[in-house]
Amino acid sequence: MKVLTITTALLAAAFLVAPALAQEGATAGGTQTAASSYSCDPNTCKLPNCLCASTSPPGGLQPKDTPQFVVITFDDSVQSKLLQTAQDMLNVKNPNGCPAKGSWYVSMEYTDFSLVQQWYANGNEIADHTFTHVGSPSAQEIAAAKSMLHEYGGVPYGKIKGFRAPFLNYTAETLSNIQQQGFQYDTSSTATVDDCFWPYTLDNGMANDCWTGICDAGKVKLPGVWELPMYAVMDNANTPQLMDVYLAGSVSDVTGWSNNNFQRHYNGNRQPFGIYVHPTHLTNFPGTPDASSLKNGVVSLIQSLAGKPDVWFVTNQQLLQWMQNPVPNSQLASQPYMQCNVPNTGKEICNGLENITISADGVASGGLLQNCNFNTTNWHTCYNCPSSAPSLETPVPSASLQSNDPNYRKPVPDNCDSIWWDPVVGQCLCTDSSCAYKDTAVPSSKNSTNGTSASGSPSDSKTGSAANAITPIYGILVTSVLAGLTGLLL
Ligand SMILES: [Zn+2]
Repeated sequence: MKVLTITTALLAAAFLVAPALAQEGATAGGTQTAASSYSCDPNTCKLPNCLCASTSPPGGLQPKDTPQFVVITFDDSVQSKLLQTAQDMLNVKNPNGCPAKGSWYVSMEYTDFSLVQQWYANGNEIADHTFTHVGSPSAQEIAAAKSMLHEYGGVPYGKIKGFRAPFLNYTAETLSNIQQQGFQYDTSSTATVDDCFWPYTLDNGMANDCWTGICDAGKVKLPGVWELPMYAVMDNANTPQLMDVYLAGSVSDVTGWSNNNFQRHYNGNRQPFGIYVHPTHLTNFPGTPDASSLKNGVVSLIQSLAGKPDVWFVTNQQLLQWMQNPVPNSQLASQPYMQCNVPNTGKEICNGLENITISADGVASGGLLQNCNFNTTNWHTCYNCPSSAPSLETPVPSASLQSNDPNYRKPVPDNCDSIWWDPVVGQCLCTDSSCAYKDTAVPSSKNSTNGTSASGSPSDSKTGSAANAITPIYGILVTSVLAGLTGLLL
């Protein structure tokens, strides 16, 4: 409770300095101080598992030899129109000819899980943004989202490595929770100028957001967990803008600030540059202001950054793979994690790469998808619909179909990546070592019951009970989020 109290007090102070903070993460705290309490010895903290916070590139690389990474991240629900916005933003190529990739921090409400799988199967990253989208989330909030992304989006547990706190509101306890749940990294903190650190591990604590007290000695010590600071754009008034920078000024102003800050990174120590958006703000919906010029501004910015031989648009997972074994720009194109081979499964299967159609009102459908329809929500999946609406207490209710039903879908086993898994037949179509996958991050609570055989046991592995009469959380949320939408508090 003490941590919460301190954070709240400081947040309140920040409101006085920067009233615009009411927008989720729009501006960082106005009174930044250097990470004076942070200390780390690079002689003992060494890659690949430990790295001290530093403004210099890792591995002793010179800035001129260092790739300039650009991370484009998307927050909140995955819906068809939002996915289209994201795809429009990522419509550029990396120097090796592969398409740009992005990371999506997914909250569960309004999310269509068939689109989660589409995003993942196309080489992008799916990460955790809690079930109900709450700040300082409980362990249950974080775990529930992870379970659903796996169960209905088919994302292997071991590929859900990242977390971002809603409203960027995290505490030491939040970070501890994600470590206990096997996440590799958090990306909720803010980097401005003095603390514009490359990603680092938390073996020696936090070195960003120190004004909240999070860097105080002993407060955070999480060996092997990475912190990927979010890199702020400093505007004309030297106020740090963080998420949704496009909302902070005219398109030309925002483009100018963004370019200036990109140059600060590119001509400096090449720290990653971030473009952090809520795609709802950049997407047209009936009854909301036209977002076209905002979106076009962001798309133009991204296209202006592309085309340089050392600028790479990557997911945070790709960035971390490079961080653990940094190579000069000249060697990046050939790294395995920078490839873009699409699996050839020989037939259309429900793996996220199948053809789906989006209707005019934005509903996804496809011949292989199951339609999960509850009173307040409607989404699709390649897997089995739950027998009741998921709730925080029971995020993965028992399947609506019995395992002997001909339409029953076979859950993805832990020895097959879902891009190779045919859930209709229950078969892994990967036949050689290049695509072999073993998910070593399955929560222990599932190990005892989950079907893990190579052929994909059709046994119903769900431990949740349909008999549990839990109030579906969606019903509660619809009201509060519709109310919140008017204030753009997403
Ligand atoms: Zn959010």
